[in-house]
Amino acid sequence: MKADVVIIGAGASGLMAAFFAAKQGADVLLMDKNQKAGRKLRITGKGRCNLTNDCEAADVLHNIPGDGRFLYSALTAFPPHEVMRFFEGHGLALKTERGHRVFPVSDNANDVADLLVHLCKDTGVRFCTSEVKKIIIRNDRVCGVETSEETVFSEACIVCTGGLSYPLTGSSGDGYRFAKDAGHTVSELRPSLVPLVSPDPCCERMQGLSLKNVALRIYEDGKPLCREQGEMLFTHFGISGPLVLSASARMRRIGELPYRAEIDLKPALDEQTLDRRLLRDLKAYRNRSLRNALADLLPHTMIPELLKTADLPEELPANALTKEMRHRLLTKLKAFPLTITGTRPYAEAIVTAGGVKTTEVNPRSMQSKLVHGLFFAGELLDLDAYTGGYNLQIAWSTGRLAGISAGKQCLSENTV
Ligand SMILES: Cc1cc2nc3c(=O)[nH]c(=O)nc-3n(C[C@H](O)[C@H](O)[C@H](O)COP(=O)(O)OP(=O)(O)OC[C@H]3O[C@@H](n4cnc5c(N)ncnc54)[C@H](O)[C@@H]3O)c2cc1C
Repeated sequence: MKADVVIIGAGASGLMAAFFAAKQGADVLLMDKNQKAGRKLRITGKGRCNLTNDCEAADVLHNIPGDGRFLYSALTAFPPHEVMRFFEGHGLALKTERGHRVFPVSDNANDVADLLVHLCKDTGVRFCTSEVKKIIIRNDRVCGVETSEETVFSEACIVCTGGLSYPLTGSSGDGYRFAKDAGHTVSELRPSLVPLVSPDPCCERMQGLSLKNVALRIYEDGKPLCREQGEMLFTHFGISGPLVLSASARMRRIGELPYRAEIDLKPALDEQTLDRRLLRDLKAYRNRSLRNALADLLPHTMIPELLKTADLPEELPANALTKEMRHRLLTKLKAFPLTITGTRPYAEAIVTAGGVKTTEVNPRSMQSKLVHGLFFAGELLDLDAYTGGYNLQIAWSTGRLAGISAGKQCLSENTV
């Protein structure tokens, strides 16, 4: 078989790359090991697909931990408002929710994937269900790819194989191997936007308890790293939920440096106000045990754990609490402590941090600086972002740029 451009991976970046490469007039073959294209895309945003964030390109860069400057060209050429225009222009109605998160009006991620598949087919992209085993490179130029059944000859290959997270969707990290075989450096990989593991037994005792409107503070090697307010959840292994996933993206040195978390259970109240509130409850329920006297302030599964960390007996009558004891309670209400020792595995991570080193890729084309005709796009690159639609925005912008560059390059070389 032969094609101008072979694209490995029909995920978010691969579908976008295929469409734009074909639009340049190139003969495009889009290969995926899965029968159905966009398997991960179809489960994004809890099946609703938070496809971008309605913000400026510069704001996207602010939501990328580490150095996002590599993305500048790709992102300014296809920023969030252009992504929205692209989808709306092709008939997919969009809506913007809290935090400028953009979703299809249908709340159905399949509509995003199906639209891209439809656009690709309409533009002449050929789909092929096959697992690529190897990229053939001779004299620092791409010549094609090999599957277990055949060799496909091509002048350009765009690697869009994603990361290591949720491997059941097909992204099992093959692209990192392809990149290394081509001479590229792959920076250290780790799960990101992922639940956190705590050895503290209180987590298991509170499993299933969800906390709303709390603030989570993370300390890295004793120094404050981040603080965010929102929702979190205790589980049998530690903590999860939106606040925790976001925090995990900032914890770049887990396993290397010690981390601890503190939960402010009443972030809306400063210490003085919370103390007045505590005094009021203790007075109103003066003849009850501490466990019962705190029932208006906290979820009941949390009360014994809070009292334990504050070293206060549950059965102590509320009216026997000394000022010093009340201060201890207050301190733990504002900073419930947890030790963090690790993350959950890739199978539970929304994205993979680390990847193909961006200094070895041309930011204006997504072409490898080492191998002519080799392009990269999407999560495979050493780029990841916080939650809010930014990871798909990276896939759209890099996919589009790689598609246009590869398509144009093939055609110009064919006409020479
Ligand atoms: C549960 C979940 C929810 C998410 N929700 C959101 C969200 O709402 N918003 C957001 O911005 N981001 C979200 N993300 C992140 C986002 O989905 C990814 O960042 C994005 O899909 C990456 O796109 P990609 O094209 O790089 O890789 P993928 O979409 O993972 O596609 C890679 C493709 O390559 C194929 N492939 C791999 N190796 C080979 C091979 N050897 N041969 C052939 N094919 C191969 C795979 O089968 C796969 O189809 C979510 C992720 C998960 C796991």
